Amino acid sequence: MNILIVEDEKRLADALAQILREQKYMVDAVYDGADGLAYGESGIYDCIILDVMLPSMNGFDVCLELRKKKITTPVLMLTAKDAIYDKVKGLDAGADDYMTKPFSPDELLARLRVLTRRRGEVILDEMRYEDITLHIDKSTLSCAKGFKTIHLNFKECEMLKLFMSKPEVIISKQDLITRIWGYDSDAGDNNVEAYVSFLRKKLAFVESGVEIVSAKKLGYKLTAKG
Ligand code: CA
Repeated sequence: MNILIVEDEKRLADALAQILREQKYMVDAVYDGADGLAYGESGIYDCIILDVMLPSMNGFDVCLELRKKKITTPVLMLTAKDAIYDKVKGLDAGADDYMTKPFSPDELLARLRVLTRRRGEVILDEMRYEDITLHIDKSTLSCAKGFKTIHLNFKECEMLKLFMSKPEVIISKQDLITRIWGYDSDAGDNNVEAYVSFLRKKLAFVESGVEIVSAKKLGYKLTAKG
């Protein structure tokens, strides 16, 4: 899951980012409204945590602009104190939820879980495609045929989840980089190639009939060997 934090209080933004990273979220943090809009427009986030009072563009306007551009990413607005007016205005601007500062990390995590679930991207225990099952809770891959199971590391698991959520669909290397390494990362095509090769070996190990095929220069897709 990718989360964008738009908060000009740098210490708060960095503290939130750290809490979320500990929970295995991928996090980008920006410190003003215009950057928030630019990052948010990418559409790659599963949730945007958006402060109201921001330099260059306030949170309401950022949210309104995103909705105008048909970006439906859930927005969790951070409002100061308990200004009721702000809450109403935030919801009118298209925010999905709001939270009053100060708040506890637990409250933030609970709200995030609700918002990302509402979007339909439930944190499932397992995913299946053809003969393979990815056990997300245990980070293992198994195959119905071979009765073999193998452990996946975090990035392998994230990558396979992405492939299994869109089987038979080509996913570009750039998409894989942004979804798995993050919007701002230094990762390149060679990182993607390395992880695809790890996954291919693991699919072969469990004797699956599913494979990751390269689609020329476009990217990769998960498919059943025909
Ligand atoms: Ca602020």
